Amino acid sequence: MNSTAGISFIADMHTHTLASTHAYSTITENAAWCSEHGIKYLGMTDHGIAMQDSPDTWHFENLRILPEYLKGVRVFKGIEADILSVSGELDIPRGMESVYYSILEWVNVSMHVQTFAPSSKRDHTKAYLNVLKNRFVDVISHSESPKFDYDYDAVTKACAEYGRLIEVNVCRIERGEIQTERYKRILECCEKHGTRIIVSSDAHFYTHIGAFDPAKKLLEEIEFPEELVINSSEERFLGYINERNERIGKNV
Ligand SMILES: [Zn+2]
Ligand SMILES: [Zn+2]
Repeated sequence: MNSTAGISFIADMHTHTLASTHAYSTITENAAWCSEHGIKYLGMTDHGIAMQDSPDTWHFENLRILPEYLKGVRVFKGIEADILSVSGELDIPRGMESVYYSILEWVNVSMHVQTFAPSSKRDHTKAYLNVLKNRFVDVISHSESPKFDYDYDAVTKACAEYGRLIEVNVCRIERGEIQTERYKRILECCEKHGTRIIVSSDAHFYTHIGAFDPAKKLLEEIEFPEELVINSSEERFLGYINERNERIGKNV
């Protein structure tokens, strides 16, 4: 396998717009930045409604009016949904699932202390394993948090079996050594099980989109196999999109 030396990226699938009130750029500004910096695929993934700073359900229902391409960049209509419970329930309102899922083209799922009270390692593991049963879920986001410890081996194995992705979140790596060390352990498990990963910025301002150097450094340091990084190659990225479309029964 090739190592990640010299790796470059073509997609950033975890970014926020000012629809999340602690983010500060418009989707047009985000897309323009991508267009100038070689990012061809952009995930617009504002917070699900359980978070205090989230947009209303109207935001998600109305995403359909956005064009597929902005400034030549393919914009995926997405969400960073909150995992609310051990059963893997997300903050997509009951009765609105079909509306959301017919519009959403990308679903990151996260545990946040604001919407999931940290519990035991066993409960966090169960929650992740349950959320993977939802066929619309694409990525487990920023799972390195020390507050939400889980069984890395079991969850990365399940991700490989279900064909889902583990995120390496640049914002979190930048928080320091503890997060970076935890990512190393998660990535070891990903390599062991052949679990694919995606590097994402979690940008809350446009200049942070695609700024993946801390993740690149980490992947190079541990010689993580590039074949498992889906957003460092257009072929791998679009291959995943095709898989996703098949999984959710979407005709393309
Ligand atoms: Zn988050
Ligand atoms: Zn985020």
